[in-house]
Amino acid sequence: MAELKALCMKCRTNNKPTMRDMVNPVVTKNEKGRYSAKGTCSVCGGNMFKFMSEADGEAMMQ
Ligand SMILES: [Zn+2]
Repeated sequence: MAELKALCMKCRTNNKPTMRDMVNPVVTKNEKGRYSAKGTCSVCGGNMFKFMSEADGEAMMQ
């Protein structure tokens, strides 16, 4: 599966969320056709969540 990056709320730089690699992302599509990904931060192991564009979501589902 493709690499996915998301903001981690736990890994903060200057008190702002930091972009991290998402481990084991699971992409889901909700009833409104919106794609989102859930995974684990590669640095701190915290939960991550990200909304995705339709194009990115479809690419990840393949
Ligand atoms: Zn983190």
